[in-house]
Amino acid sequence: GQEYAVTPWEVKGKVDYLRLAKEFGVQLLTEDDLNLLKDLTSGDVHYLIRRGFFYAHRGFREILNRAKLGESWALYNGRGPSGDLHVGHLVPWILTKWFVDKFNVQYFFELTDDEKFLVREGYTLEETNRLAYDNALSLIALGFTPDKLHIIVDSDDIKYLYKIAVKVAKKLTLSTVKNTFGFTDSNNIGAAFFPAIEIAVAFLPTELFGKETPVLIPTAIDQDPYFRLARDVAESLNYPKPATLYSKFLPGLTGEDKMSASNPDSALYVNDDEREVRRKIMNAFTGGQPTVELQRRLGGNPDSCPVYKYHMLIDENDEAVKKIYDDCRGGRLLCGECKLMLYDKVKSFLSRHRELRERARDKVNDYRVSVKF
Ligand code: SF4
Repeated sequence: GQEYAVTPWEVKGKVDYLRLAKEFGVQLLTEDDLNLLKDLTSGDVHYLIRRGFFYAHRGFREILNRAKLGESWALYNGRGPSGDLHVGHLVPWILTKWFVDKFNVQYFFELTDDEKFLVREGYTLEETNRLAYDNALSLIALGFTPDKLHIIVDSDDIKYLYKIAVKVAKKLTLSTVKNTFGFTDSNNIGAAFFPAIEIAVAFLPTELFGKETPVLIPTAIDQDPYFRLARDVAESLNYPKPATLYSKFLPGLTGEDKMSASNPDSALYVNDDEREVRRKIMNAFTGGQPTVELQRRLGGNPDSCPVYKYHMLIDENDEAVKKIYDDCRGGRLLCGECKLMLYDKVKSFLSRHRELRERARDKVNDYRVSVKF
């Protein structure tokens, strides 16, 4: 098999998702899970789950059972703020929005300006803090209302987390943190403490609501180490175990397994103008044949094509996506046409998104945990 290494900060090589799930010891979503989800949502399972982009989990079934019984639960995920938010970063939030709407639950979102400052060279804390509020605009732009979405900016809202974080920290040894996250003696001590803060948010709803409220965390599978630890420490701290729902990585447009920060052409940034978006999509790697003639005769390979994966990620219309798949395979669709179709979709999504971001600008404070609890 191929070599790969996955920690929350590093993703390399070809990813075998089944093997990755096995190595992390997480469960795959089953037909049964999907059927239960279908029952609970009147048949309308979100396309990101149906299409297998979210594919693995820890304890998802327990959350669904709670939902069935009308018991309390909440949603949690977050982001390390940065200046290069890309369209892919919005994907787990789009699914989370669906959960909020379908199940009428509260959503806690952590912006880890502290961690970004601690682990990335070249950022001041003032910058990561400013970027936290900037990134929040894209989240709010997806249509959340302030009664459901509660934003925590770590360095500003630490009072909500600190008491929980110190309890968590006491349960985590330095060697556990080193083994889990690959820290060495040259990492700063802030980076070593940070997992306690990220884990603390998983227990915050239980504290705030004064009753057992486990969280469901929709996130990319490389975040599993944090939440495995969170599940490990939960019981001894008398908190419910958090559950997770894991996605695959967003493919890079240039053909990598994952969009990479070091190759700006591999991702579509929220701030890219239309010309940039068009250029990146038109230059994207595809699963197409080297010539038009061969494409017509043999068809392309959508399964290994990032352009197809983008259609799958952003187009809700199953029939439209299936048609692309079939037309590609059957040689009826050429890559140039297919890319233009994708460009049209991304262009209209982004222009609407940027407009909604601007509208969110003077409302950010309404969403902060500190104005509500
Ligand atoms: Fe990919 Fe579209 Fe070309 Fe098929 S037609 S290989 S899906 S770009």
